[in-house]
Order: sequence, then C-alpha cells, then structure tokens
Amino acid sequence: MGYRAETYRLVTDELARRREKALSDAEANRQIFHGESPEAAELDAALSQTAKRIFEAALDGGDVERKVAAIRRENEQMLAVRRELLASLGHPADFTDPHYTCPLCADTGYVLTRMCACMKELLQLESLRAGGVANADTQTFDTFSLKYYHTPEERSLMKQTLAAAKDFAECFKPGRENLLLMGGTGLGKTHLSTAIARTVISRGYDVIYETAQAIISDFEYDHFRNSYSNETGRAEKYLKTDLLILDDLGTEFGGQFTLSCLYQIVNTRLVRGLSTVISTNLTAQELNERYDTRLTSRFLGNYRVLRFVGQDIRQQSLSERKE
Ligand SMILES: [Zn+2]
Repeated sequence: MGYRAETYRLVTDELARRREKALSDAEANRQIFHGESPEAAELDAALSQTAKRIFEAALDGGDVERKVAAIRRENEQMLAVRRELLASLGHPADFTDPHYTCPLCADTGYVLTRMCACMKELLQLESLRAGGVANADTQTFDTFSLKYYHTPEERSLMKQTLAAAKDFAECFKPGRENLLLMGGTGLGKTHLSTAIARTVISRGYDVIYETAQAIISDFEYDHFRNSYSNETGRAEKYLKTDLLILDDLGTEFGGQFTLSCLYQIVNTRLVRGLSTVISTNLTAQELNERYDTRLTSRFLGNYRVLRFVGQDIRQQSLSERKE
C-alpha cells in the first residue's frame, strides 16, 4: 500500500522521538550512577577504552591472540564489578541501557533492510488518522460498551452486531463477506467501523476508510480532469483495496453520476472478490427510494446487514459527564 509523504514523515518523526527519549533516559541514568559513586565513572571510562586497546594490541603484533584475550578477560571482570555496584546501589542490571519501545528494531523502524512490524502499524494508523478516522487508538472492540443499550432486546441485538463485526474483522479475507451497517446517528456504527479497520490493518491487509461524499468527489475529479494528464486516477484505489469502508452512505449529493459511481464501486468490488463495509443512517425503505433497485438488490444479495438500535450514545455520555 502506498502512503503519502506526510504520513511517512509523521511516522519517522515519531520513531526518532522514541529513540531519542530512550537514549536520553539512559544517559540521565548513567549520570545518576556516576553521581552516586566515583568508582562508577572510573569503571565506565576504563570500559570505553576496551575497543581502542584491542585495536592497538592488534597493531603491536607479537602474540596478538593472547593479548586480546587478556583485554577481554579484564573487560568481563570490570563488567561484573559494575553489575555488583549497580545492585549495591539498588539499581537493576540494565539501569543505564536504553529502553526502546520496540526492542526488535531499537526504534529505527527497520530490522536490517526489512521494515519492522512496529513501523508498518504506525504507518497504517497514521494513514487512518489522515483519512479522518480520529479515534483509531481508542475505538476498539474491547472499548465498545453495551451499557448504552437499555432494553434487553436492544442489548441482545447489539451483542449480535458486535460479535458479527468482530468475526468479520478477525477472520477477514478479501471477498469472504460484506457488511451493511444500518441504524440512526450515534448508535456505534463509527466505533465498530474503526475497530474493524484497525483489526484488519493489524492483520496485514490494505484498508481505506472514507466517507461516501469524499469518494464520489474523487470520482468527479477523475471524470472532469484533463484527459491528457499523466496523473493516475484518484478513484482507482477504491476499486482495488482489500477492504473499503464506505462511511455515511446517503449523505453524498444525489444524481445520476453518484448513482453510477456507487454501482461501479459495489459491482466491481464484488466481481474482483474484494470486501466492502458500508454504513448508513438510512432505513431499508429510504435506501430503496434514494437509489435504484439495481444497487439495492446488490446489497440484499451480497451484504450481511448489521442493525444498530437504541438511543444516541453521544447524548447519553454527555449527560453522564454532566451528572
Ligand atoms: Zn520495531
């Protein structure tokens, strides 16, 4: 998956920040250690000469092997003394070592020439954020609470919806399933869409999460741009990504062009064996009135409908905070 230059920059900045913090914390601890014992500073000064002494022994010639072995033994002894000194001052053995967020790559983002898993995840989270998904960190399946759904019927239906969304994400394979999330505003559709995006990304698939209006705008841009332009189309990615999450169907501007774009997205992705999650505030009847049956029959036949019921969660948590 391609990322924007800005996304790369934010991620490499974050990795550099983590690395610098690990190193400066280690240096601060070294200063503490040296301040606590004069012997500590002497030991570290002597230890820092080891490489230089081995190099000089090699240059001197003679019985190099024996000389180098002696230097190494001395080095080991100094390290043992240092460990004892740290322990006697009540510090752990790795007190002055850098503690990286990711020990695998030491917060460089790379293990040899391969991109580390920590950097991949950061890139995808950042691209979700760049795509307008504000709460990619906090809106997970674990934080989805059923306490806002009051009647037993509501709670049992939302429990099924949550389980189905989780299953979709955890067993995701392109083309395995498509979802249509239906229900009013503030009933958790965005929360579960975000959790789906996060989980599918962490399993290594490409995900695009975008509003219907923004997607249609990209199709319009391609449609009206100079046909001699070498620029690749903006809309192509919506037809290629493993998972497209199309948010807020029904809020885009209507018209024949929009209808044909939506049909193209839904149909092409079905034909290509790719998965789509669509969320909408519209009821089944409103969907039928707004779009033609060519589109809505595609949903009926190929999408699993997950219903969202209850009262607006945002209103409820606002009044909870006021209490
Ligand atoms: Zn890493």
